[in-house]
Amino acid sequence: MKLKHLLILAFITMSAVPLFFGLNYLNNISGHYARDQFAHHLSSMSKIAEQRILTAVDRIKDNTALISSRTQMRISLEQWNQTGDISHQEKITRIINDAKNGLTHLKDIRIYDRRGRPVASTTDTSINEKLDIQGPLRAQISLVPEADEIIALSREPLRLNHETVGYIEIRYYTNFITSLVRDRTGLGKTGEWLFAVRHESGDALFAVPLKYDHQAAFQRRVSKDRLDVPITQALLGNERIMSEAPDYLEQPVLASTRYIPELDWGLVAKVNETEVNQLASQNQSLIYIAELIIVVIAIGVGVALAFYISRPIERLKTHTARAASGKLEPPQVQPTSWQEAKELTNHFAYMIKAIRELTENLQQKVDERTQELNEANKKLEKIASHDQLTGLYNRRQFDQRFAEEFDRNKRYRHGLAVALLDIDHFKSINDRYGHAVGDDVLRKIGAYLNSSVRASDVAARIGGEEFCLLLPECTAKGALAFLERIRNDISEIEVKTNDISFNITCSVGVAYLDASIEDKNALLNNADMAMYKAKQGGRNKVMVFHDGHAATPIDKYS
Ligand code: GH3
Ligand code: MG
Ligand code: MG
Repeated sequence: MKLKHLLILAFITMSAVPLFFGLNYLNNISGHYARDQFAHHLSSMSKIAEQRILTAVDRIKDNTALISSRTQMRISLEQWNQTGDISHQEKITRIINDAKNGLTHLKDIRIYDRRGRPVASTTDTSINEKLDIQGPLRAQISLVPEADEIIALSREPLRLNHETVGYIEIRYYTNFITSLVRDRTGLGKTGEWLFAVRHESGDALFAVPLKYDHQAAFQRRVSKDRLDVPITQALLGNERIMSEAPDYLEQPVLASTRYIPELDWGLVAKVNETEVNQLASQNQSLIYIAELIIVVIAIGVGVALAFYISRPIERLKTHTARAASGKLEPPQVQPTSWQEAKELTNHFAYMIKAIRELTENLQQKVDERTQELNEANKKLEKIASHDQLTGLYNRRQFDQRFAEEFDRNKRYRHGLAVALLDIDHFKSINDRYGHAVGDDVLRKIGAYLNSSVRASDVAARIGGEEFCLLLPECTAKGALAFLERIRNDISEIEVKTNDISFNITCSVGVAYLDASIEDKNALLNNADMAMYKAKQGGRNKVMVFHDGHAATPIDKYS
């Protein structure tokens, strides 16, 4: 065997072993990589869907809070409770019709009295059913089927002066869920959203029509014992990626499960395994082609190297043989072939570099996407925690901050004042100058409050024209002086419309946290009671809850 053949054999054997193991490893990880990428994508999609639902639900909560905060409505309801005089019922009907005006996503508002008997509704058909009040009714949102629609039902007690005077029930259209479910962008050909509520038996009850079962909404159930099914896992509160899990057609799917604890809802984004495998194998074919190219190049380089290394040696051998036989000729100087071998090696290095760049680009794309998703999430978080009109915290964020501040101040006793601020005769501003001017007033007050409070304070819009300030780490006196300044500043804000300018005033109720208060709602109720007293006392006042029950004007507070 010639030297060059030996060298070719040696090169190919030497490169074949690492190449074999290397490519085998590459095949393995590329299959997993494609699957992981897809699972990651599915999980991000369902996270965004969860955020969209939470944002929509927050909007429902905010809307319900805005409508139930109407003081006049709650006063009229209390008077209706006491006297049964029809004029109060008419007033309530007028107020809820006014509130519903222009809100197209809202189907109906119903008001019930203290015992759950119907009082007023915005639909023509009068309601007869009594509200089922089992124990104290908390604010809650549920999905219910009604005729051919799915309705989000938001219920909460109406309180006036510490007491429940009745209940409000608002029905919202659920386009936000149906449009989410219909929008299957990014879920591939076989992808689908599943959305379920908990049936009283504990089973998962699909709450929207399914792609392959249009009658499924509030009909089709999945037993709570089917732990292998994604929607059951979602309702169990497990957020995970499930492979080869059976869907409602018993087909294997790749699924991302999410649970929305605020509502006790389960959400699943799923794609058939056949489609995922198809995608992975498409990716795999590309890898195979790349591998084939590498193998061909490796063999080519091996052959070329063997050829060019052996050539001078072979020539030297012939030369020596000729010298031995006396036929020596002067050796011919030829341009070296190493140059060409070097070029080939350069090509090889270039290809490796290109492959590496391809992988880096892929990584870069994934990073960019992740960053985009993070930014989108940040925006959603901002929307979810802030009131759109005023830019202040919304009710949900307020509840959370209030709980935190209350606990912190109970523990360290650094002082906490809670102030409720309600614009005076705001309804008549709307009636006289229009809703847009009313909105402008709210915006102005929002901007003013935002610029006046300290970074550690919390300013939130918790009702239509009701704001709440949390002032931690301050003395009662300091808080009162500050609130008196706020009241005065607001009364000097000038609102201009069509050459007319007017001023607004507000009434403020304050409560200060002391050792006797165990429950944060009690503290809020105290502020509410003080605010109510400020209204009764002629408005444009700051009143403070003091000594157990009475509200005192601040100049008498000591
Ligand atoms: P009071 O001095 O007793 O507080 O009287 P009021 O008119 O301010 O109180 P009431 O609670 O009866 O009315 C609140 C009004 O707030 C009714 C409603 O039209 C208005 N409102 C609630 N939300 C908004 C909003 O987002 N924009 C506008 N422009 N008005 C709103
Ligand atoms: Mg009010
Ligand atoms: Mg008001």
